[in-house]
Amino acid sequence: MDAPTTSTDEPSIAVTGLAAMGAALARNIAGTGRTVHVHNRTPERTRTLVDEHGAEGLVGADDLDALIADMEPPRLVIAMIASGPPIDDLIGQLRERLDPGDVIVDAGNSDFRDTERRAGRLTGTGIGFLGMGVSGGEEGARLGPSLMPAGDRWAFELAEPVLVDIAARATDGTPCCAYLGTGGAGHYVKMVHNGIEYADMGAIAEAVELLRRGGRDTDEMAAIVEGWNGGELGSFLLEITARILRVVDDVDDDVVDDVVDGGTADRHLLLDRVADRASQKGTGRLTAQEALELGEPATTIAEATFHRSLSALVDRRRSAALGDTTIDARPSGIDPDDTAAALLACRLVALAQGFDLLAAGSEAHGWELDLPRVAEIWRAGCIIRSVLLDPIAEALRTDGPHLVTSPAVGRRLDEATPGWRRTTVAAIGAGVPVPVMSSALAWRDALATDRLPTALIQAQRDVFGAHTYERTDRDGTFHSSWTPTRPGTHP
Ligand code: NDP
Repeated sequence: MDAPTTSTDEPSIAVTGLAAMGAALARNIAGTGRTVHVHNRTPERTRTLVDEHGAEGLVGADDLDALIADMEPPRLVIAMIASGPPIDDLIGQLRERLDPGDVIVDAGNSDFRDTERRAGRLTGTGIGFLGMGVSGGEEGARLGPSLMPAGDRWAFELAEPVLVDIAARATDGTPCCAYLGTGGAGHYVKMVHNGIEYADMGAIAEAVELLRRGGRDTDEMAAIVEGWNGGELGSFLLEITARILRVVDDVDDDVVDDVVDGGTADRHLLLDRVADRASQKGTGRLTAQEALELGEPATTIAEATFHRSLSALVDRRRSAALGDTTIDARPSGIDPDDTAAALLACRLVALAQGFDLLAAGSEAHGWELDLPRVAEIWRAGCIIRSVLLDPIAEALRTDGPHLVTSPAVGRRLDEATPGWRRTTVAAIGAGVPVPVMSSALAWRDALATDRLPTALIQAQRDVFGAHTYERTDRDGTFHSSWTPTRPGTHP
């Protein structure tokens, strides 16, 4: 793209959009010793942030004109605002005010297709554009997020020292930030990250539900999850789950400290009073849509997304209570070790489906994504960080993009499968919905099945639509009249 002659000096930096994420990111950058110009559409937020934290190196501006005037070129303007039309409006306003050599970073959760379109809109202006996925929530943004930037290479090079300084560090010290390619590659990788997140969260929720339905009290559940988190299943999402299982409700219980070390059995978990309608901001849906578009069977990610939608259909769920007498409110015989195996398998499947989709997306959109590097920048800072990401990066590097074909991953799935299958079968037998565990198992079983019943689907298609079929014993496409040749088989 149109790379201007850039200064080798560091850019002056602004963060616009000072809700939870933007404020935390601005403070993170200021913590590296840089001055950060801060701005928000509603100036009260700017004033509050500067009042509270200005001494850390934040300089406020009430409007965009003042913000840009305060900054020396080249300018790096990081937008951390609601995605969708607000970003288009903001880019329009910045485009009128910035100079060639300045850079806009959209650090929100934009749809990668919008990012590609916006990059095109800035072509020829000399203003650089990066679409950057940011993961880690507010705490990550404040202390070290995983950063997934893409766009104009020169723009990344201008931003790189800042981004590398504020990113999380993996245990080997590598910053969790890497240039991922052109256009929407960064937002694409963040989208798939979130799809994996949906599946992992769904699997954890199912596992905890199985513990609960198996009669464990809240302390036992918390202790089991803490135990899981201490081993191969170690992850941020399990860590916060264990925390959630230790929090009692203080609304009508006489509890002073809301986090207790034990003895919650006779008190209400706050979790038990949280409505079970799961919401979403759309990145799981986008991942599932993209998977359908590219013909990638990211079934577990899609199922986890659908399950959130199903959970929100409260009235329909109530009127669909059919009085099935086979439902067992207290299923017995579900071993927590088996459940842990199911959880591990689901995490591996979610990652495998995510990387399959990244590989397909990279090819379809022409990005040449470095998949092992993607796994590496997810090792710290982000929501799906887990101890598995190290071996996953290794497997991607050694065995290629399709994790299910990696001997190391395959071996781990094989080891987990007996417990995973027992857990899933027991749950289904007892009427406990486990959409993530069961869809992941179906995906695994289907991939491992020599001959799938899809041959019949091809035959049916040829009967009613002359869609033709391929044969197992010779090349070419065939159409048959499908006239019964076995007597007595046709009415
Ligand atoms: P929100 O997504 O709630 O967005 C609120 C911010 O957007 C406010 O600063 C608001 O300004 C600004 N805004 C809204 N509409 C406009 C507009 N038309 N023009 C200018 N500014 C506008 O805030 P978050 O901090 O949660 O998230 C910011 C971005 O980061 C989003 O894209 C989100 O998807 C993404 N993200 C969020 C994560 C999280 O954990 N929350 C994690 C990773 C990414 P005002 O104060 O004037 O209303």
